[in-house]
Amino acid sequence: MCGVIGIVSKKKEVSKDLYCGLYGLQHRGKEAAGIVTFAGDNYYSHLGIGEIAVVFRNGDILAGLKGNIGIAHNRYSTAGESNPANIQPIRGVWKGKEFWLGHNGNLVNTEILREYCQKKRFKFKNTSDTGVIAALISLTKAPSFEKAVEEVLQKLKGAHSLVILYEDRIIAVKDSLGIRPLCVGKREDAFVVASETCALYHMGASLIREVDPGEMLIITQSGIKEYFRPPVKKRKFCIFEFVYFLRPDSIVFGRRVKDVQKNMGRYLARECPASADLAVPIPDSGKYGGLGFIEKSGTKDGQEAMLRTHLVSRTFIEPIQELRERGAELKFVVIEEEIAGKKIVTIDDSIVRGTTQKRLTGLFKKAGAKEVHSRVFSPPYRYPCYFGIDTYRIKDELIAERKGGDVEEIRKELGLDSLCYLSLDSLLKAILETPGTPLTKDDFCTSCFSGEYPVPIED
Ligand code: SF4
Repeated sequence: MCGVIGIVSKKKEVSKDLYCGLYGLQHRGKEAAGIVTFAGDNYYSHLGIGEIAVVFRNGDILAGLKGNIGIAHNRYSTAGESNPANIQPIRGVWKGKEFWLGHNGNLVNTEILREYCQKKRFKFKNTSDTGVIAALISLTKAPSFEKAVEEVLQKLKGAHSLVILYEDRIIAVKDSLGIRPLCVGKREDAFVVASETCALYHMGASLIREVDPGEMLIITQSGIKEYFRPPVKKRKFCIFEFVYFLRPDSIVFGRRVKDVQKNMGRYLARECPASADLAVPIPDSGKYGGLGFIEKSGTKDGQEAMLRTHLVSRTFIEPIQELRERGAELKFVVIEEEIAGKKIVTIDDSIVRGTTQKRLTGLFKKAGAKEVHSRVFSPPYRYPCYFGIDTYRIKDELIAERKGGDVEEIRKELGLDSLCYLSLDSLLKAILETPGTPLTKDDFCTSCFSGEYPVPIED
């Protein structure tokens, strides 16, 4: 997963807006970030490794990014290693003219397309799937840039929410299954596209609507033009976005994410009750599910028993195992006097590798907990994702798969007194029953829980 943004203003320079938008999307990736703007005949770019406060560490950098139009990207390493050449937006050249591309998602036919480009003598400078998309655009002989993008879209398989900066316009695209989020918004002076509505909020813009699956938009100072907007026949929105990725204040399909997660917690309390003195939601991603669990179960609210330091961001997206392990201890503080002698039930969004949960169990036991139970508001994360998060590269580390889906075996490894996961059926119901745009169970990708992939994995 990554975060993408684009903005076109009629009056103002946009680099600071893009910075604020990236700030709002930092949770979608912190390995690298980049902003590219366009003014006159020139592009202005700054890209770097690290969180945005590091990449754009002084005001001069933003001041140097001139122009009323630009795009930006927060990178979370998926296809292609974590190296400087893969930082986005990625530069391409079509018929001698420059363009820049930001991508959220992951293609599943990258290698086939890369070979195609290499046969056409394209020389790659990067190893990512986004670089392949840029190469394909560069190689087309279409009569216009829009036609070039349209032609390339037919070749892409997998998840791709794209923003492309080409001189005075931004092209926004969502793949035909709509796997990753992308929405458009507006401000008095500007039109905006972003991965999540939380970025619109930080840019002072309001939501117009979500981009539809398979849709291509052209955004200029004059407005947002639907280049094509096919009727939605099939949608496979990533269900894990609702469980973990989306910021709780974001709105997708008319639903505030925190309200959906709260409902997941209510379902969890019904399906997986626990006899405990204190229910502790794991901050931050378990917070709203935890509140729903507490509300429905009547268990005493244990939020004060745990503190998140915010020194360390999401451990799951740390690229190095040692940092991931130490991150859990830096990130969480357990307050001993709240815990000692009590039966604790923790509520969390998911267990992927199990690293964090195992460390947490240890922290609670060290603080004197009599029993530690865990309730999780998603099913066992058993199958790798090929559509925008890197679990296909760590498939041997997924605890649910290592234990063959046996919950009792997972419980033992994590040192818990009991463990229970929300069923896929209840997870879907919790989303569908939250008021918003009508949806059905078929509108979601659930592959990492069910093993049923919406498109064949070709790579
Ligand atoms: S496999 Fe899981 S994480 Fe990946 S897109 Fe599907 S639901 Fe989302």
